[in-house]
Amino acid sequence: MGKYRILCFANQKGGVGKTTSAVNVAACLARAGKKVLLVDADPQGNATSGIGVSKRELESTVYDVLIGQKTVAETVVETSAKNLFLLPSGIDLVGAELELADEARREYRLKDALEQVREQYDYIIIDCPPALGLVTINTLVAADGVIIPLLCEYYSLEGLTQLNATIGQIRKRYNAHLELLGVLLNMYDGRLNLTVSVLEEIKKFFPGKVFRTPIPRSVRMSEAPSHGLSIVDYEPHGKGAAAYAAVTRELMTRCE
Ligand code: ATP
Ligand code: MG
Repeated sequence: MGKYRILCFANQKGGVGKTTSAVNVAACLARAGKKVLLVDADPQGNATSGIGVSKRELESTVYDVLIGQKTVAETVVETSAKNLFLLPSGIDLVGAELELADEARREYRLKDALEQVREQYDYIIIDCPPALGLVTINTLVAADGVIIPLLCEYYSLEGLTQLNATIGQIRKRYNAHLELLGVLLNMYDGRLNLTVSVLEEIKKFFPGKVFRTPIPRSVRMSEAPSHGLSIVDYEPHGKGAAAYAAVTRELMTRCE
């Protein structure tokens, strides 16, 4: 296996497609025959419900893992997709930020926990919350690579200086080999001049990092989570599924 096995989708800006991308890339990797663990690290639990796991029926979540109450193996659940497993999340994760504040190795909780299962999966894909707090720091410390989803809009580049600074700090203090593996453009509409000019700006800001295939805006993509399905299972022959399949192929070459 390649050197990039644990990947997180991060951007402190809300609603840019972190969850959509984490779920769908994880599903595409699983379809390609890889054994995948999707880690929901957001108290909103969107990746959990989006892949069809009912939050009410969970005995434990990533919160219990972070505070050391449960192991990953005890908390992982199956999904309806073959090869795709989930470390679920729920609202209790909100408490982790405060509860871990004074704990030893508080930045390494997720890394230490995933270390025990790392060899059992080809890929571990982490969905981050829209914040740069302790939970996101845990994901960046645990990860080999980070992928930044961005909307194709004027304000997209705002906040990226802060995200870059955070990634730099993580490298310096906790995880020297953290790599920026790619920037994923979401809600792409090539008919809009604004989209095209924003794309140029983003390519200048992240030379060589932008994935060749952007993710188009698609109503089907926003419907899929309410059915508990990835886009590749909900609309396998649509443009959204095709785009995520292409991005996943590109990602696999970057990783392996
Ligand atoms: P948060 O910061 O709240 O966790 P996020 O970055 O994870 O948000 P998503 O939840 O993936 O973002 O996407 C935000 C909303 O936009 C969701 O309702 C999602 O279904 C929708 N969405 C994302 N990408 C697309 C797309 N390409 N086409 C249509 N709808 C999309
Ligand atoms: Mg999300």
